[in-house]
Amino acid sequence: MKSKRCGNCGSFEITKNKVNGPFRWKDYLMVYLASPISLDQCNACGETMRKPGDSEKVDQAVEESLRSYTQFFISKILERENCKQIDLAARLGVSPEYLSSLKAGSKIPSFQTFNFLRTLAMNEGAFQVAAPENATKLAQAS
Ligand SMILES: [Zn+2]
Repeated sequence: MKSKRCGNCGSFEITKNKVNGPFRWKDYLMVYLASPISLDQCNACGETMRKPGDSEKVDQAVEESLRSYTQFFISKILERENCKQIDLAARLGVSPEYLSSLKAGSKIPSFQTFNFLRTLAMNEGAFQVAAPENATKLAQAS
């Protein structure tokens, strides 16, 4: 067996590890997987080494995780606010059709939309603050 060498630090201590990120994907700089995948990794510096086929495996795992985080955020917001999808779509600035495809998992949002969903899901007050009519009120008050 040919011993592998780390392209980053030159160490030969490469083993197959369970890795959950962070991975870069499209406009997402750091994605952590919902469940880790096996990849060759340098134990000295942490660099992951991708064999042929590994990049597809990473992309697939990243997409699967982003899809499930997105679906989780959306159902959490809809349940907590007891609102219609059209109300959430208005706050996100996306069409109701697009929100439906995110909810169904057939599309993955841009990082900007993902981050907004995460904020709305994690902060109870943020949903009200993001209501479109609040921008009007704020403009009228000044
Ligand atoms: Zn290394």
